[in-house]
Amino acid sequence: MKIGIFGGTFDPIHFGHLQLARNARVQFSLDKVIFVPAFQSPHKQDVPSITPAAHRYEMVRLAIESEPHCGLSDSELKRQGISYTFDTLIEFEKQYPGAEFFLILGKDAFEGLDAWHRAPELKQKVRFIVAKRENHGLPAVRDVRADWIQMPLCPISASGIRAALKRGESVDDYLSPKVLQYIRTNELYRKDQAWT
Ligand code: ATP
Repeated sequence: MKIGIFGGTFDPIHFGHLQLARNARVQFSLDKVIFVPAFQSPHKQDVPSITPAAHRYEMVRLAIESEPHCGLSDSELKRQGISYTFDTLIEFEKQYPGAEFFLILGKDAFEGLDAWHRAPELKQKVRFIVAKRENHGLPAVRDVRADWIQMPLCPISASGIRAALKRGESVDDYLSPKVLQYIRTNELYRKDQAWT
């Protein structure tokens, strides 16, 4: 079995994430893509006011409920603490013995790979499927099995969406209607909001 692991903060999940998952699955003949919302991303520890994990998890659930080849894992939420991909992979290896794992990520995340927790072991265990986020070549990460996803650049980011929502602008083109409804119902990403 070939499994794509797609980790992220998903604050909120947007069409860029879904496009990435769909294209990765088809291009690399993955049996499924499992979304893994981070409890606390090691790369975003200094980012203020990240939305509580339970909301981010629920938005991912809503966004992928009609995506036939997508799954959702609460492993990082259950573990709590800093969400290291290596620890998640060890859990998945136990859950899916014999499976081949692929890590799906954007180029911005991939170029920091050498600083990740237990990066050398991670590089040996998985293949990386990388999406371009702007028009540049493959970053200089060594000793790694990595391939580009062939898809048009998708200039959507969660930070851009949060900023637009705070300004009261429409983000209907970037988010699934169910996620949009969830954001409205739970009054997320408002100007006056602070989670701390
Ligand atoms: P933020 O803008 O807050 O940093 P984000 O949109 O990058 O958030 P994350 O949850 O951090 O969202 O992303 C999860 C993964 O998806 C990361 O590896 C990121 O590089 C990738 N990704 C997100 N959006 C895109 C996009 N539009 N095109 C390609 N990769 C993307």
